[in-house]
Amino acid sequence: MAPAAAAPASVAASQEPHDLPHTEPQPLWCLDERNVATRRGKIVRKVRERYLRDDLSCSLPLCSLCVVESDTSAATHVLGTTKAVLSETPRSGVYLLPSMETVLKQMDVLEFSTKQHKPKATDGAPEDAAVQGEVFADVVVLETVWEFVKRQDLGVYNRLRALLMNADRRFVVFANEHHRASFVQKTRTLPVGYADDEADQQEVESEQERNRRAVATAWAWYAAHLKELERRDVRVLFLANDAEDLANAERHGVKDGVTIAEFLRPVATQFPELQDLLAASAAEEKELTAEGVSSSAGRGKKSQLYPAHLPTAELLAGIKNKRLFQGTIRCNRDHWLECHVLIHGAGGVKLPVLLQGREHINRAIDGDLVAIQLLPKSQWKKPSDSFAANGTAATEEADQDKEEEEAQQPEPVGVAEPTVSLEQAALVQSDAAQHVKPAGRVVGIIQRNWRKFCGSLEPPRDGASLSASGSCLVVPVDRKVPKIKIQTRQQETLMDKRLLVAIDSWPADSKFPLGHYVRTLGVIGDKETE
Ligand SMILES: [Zn+2]
Repeated sequence: MAPAAAAPASVAASQEPHDLPHTEPQPLWCLDERNVATRRGKIVRKVRERYLRDDLSCSLPLCSLCVVESDTSAATHVLGTTKAVLSETPRSGVYLLPSMETVLKQMDVLEFSTKQHKPKATDGAPEDAAVQGEVFADVVVLETVWEFVKRQDLGVYNRLRALLMNADRRFVVFANEHHRASFVQKTRTLPVGYADDEADQQEVESEQERNRRAVATAWAWYAAHLKELERRDVRVLFLANDAEDLANAERHGVKDGVTIAEFLRPVATQFPELQDLLAASAAEEKELTAEGVSSSAGRGKKSQLYPAHLPTAELLAGIKNKRLFQGTIRCNRDHWLECHVLIHGAGGVKLPVLLQGREHINRAIDGDLVAIQLLPKSQWKKPSDSFAANGTAATEEADQDKEEEEAQQPEPVGVAEPTVSLEQAALVQSDAAQHVKPAGRVVGIIQRNWRKFCGSLEPPRDGASLSASGSCLVVPVDRKVPKIKIQTRQQETLMDKRLLVAIDSWPADSKFPLGHYVRTLGVIGDKETE
């Protein structure tokens, strides 16, 4: 399971205290305790020793305050490689410090090289306004951010590593978790639920809160460091994923931050592709604020089109007492509105449960690990009821009509149906023998299996003009996958192209999953492309 790429860093980290030469200052030693919930719901206490140091450098060139000579060893214990150095004169005098969410969710934007893509000619704008070199360069990646991404998504983590190795981009790691001035400890380490009264529980700082505070503290350290160096020509800009992310950072003391959408606005005309790469939450904010509506107000107005997903703890408890079942959802090869989940029936026999229609599939996508609830037996299906048996073309049309209907009059979400009991669940097997298929509905997602999807833009219907907001649907080649809503400023150019898109989220008030453009694969129908 452990990725080979992570090995050098962890090996270096464990050896680090022994490698210290005797001339170095005595490191401050501290215990780092964490309570970690395992996937099976057990709580395990992890204790780690941590050595805090004063000699980790800020990566600014020729910094007179940091001890640079010993910094090579410090860099290797985080990165396993020698350290890049920030530019003396970053673009617009700004060093970027992205948040955990920004790096996790906006990797497509961060790794986009504006140097390798010619900027669009800007009409009337003076030529020196054009970006020379990279939009995303001179970026400080905090150890907190690095570790967070490593835990969340190994794919993104490896792309971050590649950026850190790329000398052209000047992404540097700051070992803030090992730096005495920027290390923050959790205010209390009692796990939630262990505290004896409510007042006590409120004092417990979550892992997420501690991490946010660590990031904000490191930002403040950089800001103070630049002040101490009397560098008034440069500043450290906190780069948030969205307004909520920024508000959280400001709560912990970040005073100079922007959302990534705001940050990209000045270069929007030069690099329309960069805008398209924004992950959906940020892109949506861009659209809503452009219309003069704040993102939270815009959200509140929309009605919920899907039942809410249950929280993970509730799902796991439900699966444990057999009220719910878990399994991987598999969609019909010809139509994503009909799916199956294999569940463990009595005696370890695997039984297929049928899920039909938007509401019952409830935003699950082929391959996701889901928790389902069986529907009352009156709603179980004979195989002849299935969409596949009725012919997919007719179903597609019916669905299309239904889609239009829904668009005008969104159906309110009903109250959850009575749960099928354990006894009834045990009957599943015998009923299956009588050719009645148990039916169910998705109540929560345990793990997403979102990949990148290949598809094409849906042409406007009946000669309608292109959407002015830049919002459009991508029809995936894989018919097991629903259409994906993206934002693009390149609609005309992309109309006849094969695209690669990524899904970012699927909120309950959005009919389609929200995603973003990743890249163009070629012209539709081209032998090379297909
Ligand atoms: Zn320094």
